[in-house]
Amino acid sequence: MKTLLFACAAVLAATQSWAAETTTVAPGVDLIPGTFVPGRQPDGNSLVFRTADGLVVFDSGRHAEHTQRILDFAKGAKLPIKAVVNSHWHLDHIGGNLRIRAAYPDVRVYASIAIDGAMGGFLADYRKQLVDAIAQTKDEKTVQSYRDEVALIDAGRALYPDEVIAKSGTRRIAGHRFDVRLQARAVTAGDVWIYDPTTRTLAAGDLVTLPVPLFDTACPARWQSALAELERVPFDTLVPGHGAPMQRAQFATYRRAYANLLDCAASSKDKNACIDGWLTDAKPLLADADSSFVRTLAGYYIDNSLRAPKAKIDRLCDADMKQH
Ligand SMILES: [Zn+2]
Repeated sequence: MKTLLFACAAVLAATQSWAAETTTVAPGVDLIPGTFVPGRQPDGNSLVFRTADGLVVFDSGRHAEHTQRILDFAKGAKLPIKAVVNSHWHLDHIGGNLRIRAAYPDVRVYASIAIDGAMGGFLADYRKQLVDAIAQTKDEKTVQSYRDEVALIDAGRALYPDEVIAKSGTRRIAGHRFDVRLQARAVTAGDVWIYDPTTRTLAAGDLVTLPVPLFDTACPARWQSALAELERVPFDTLVPGHGAPMQRAQFATYRRAYANLLDCAASSKDKNACIDGWLTDAKPLLADADSSFVRTLAGYYIDNSLRAPKAKIDRLCDADMKQH
């Protein structure tokens, strides 16, 4: 399984370095945007909710710098981080759990238990790939970035939730009422998204990602159903796992582009026609994206996910949480 490292290589080759500022999405809800820096894997977006008891952090990033921004934000707000909610087990969303736990030993981490299956499957495979890559790579900075990834995986249970989200429902987290939903087998075996009815903010995790849907561990069809469910939530603002916040019309554009991409990939059309289709459909959402980067990623996922052998897709679509 080469997906993560290959996707990473595409990212390294083509992205611009950017580190967007923290922005207020709604009163008491701030976005610490994920960052792509050449030579490194990405960080997912982090969303910070102020509650009566302290802060709730949705996704903790991967690299130390990203998580430090979350810790600095808490310091600046003079509020403790009471809870972390992880949208899914990909390292760009849970890697910061370790540092947040170190700074706030009483923090409660909420997530699905899908990480348990991943530790024996996808992450174990990825770790092997990293070890091989370390042996073959000369550039010291790159080797260090691979070693950091291995160290994260080796942190094992320190990345796991304290509170397992096993079903959807309303939950009080740090004294605040959230609608917490568990989506099985969409982006991963267990994806969590949360809706804050007070501010009408929806934290979607990687159910919405730009510049393309990141299909590495996904069941594309179930992901599509999950997008239909998101549409039914009365949100004003949706915050993706990667990319800028969206209003409802922008999300509708994303959904349409996603559906067209799946239809095209399922047809006999040439791969490049499907890539062109994505670029056209998603254009309003791809303002400053490098189009060669988008093409590389979209092409990669058409070959390795959407047009992957049926057995691979079935495994991702049918696996229960433990088997993933
Ligand atoms: Zn991600």
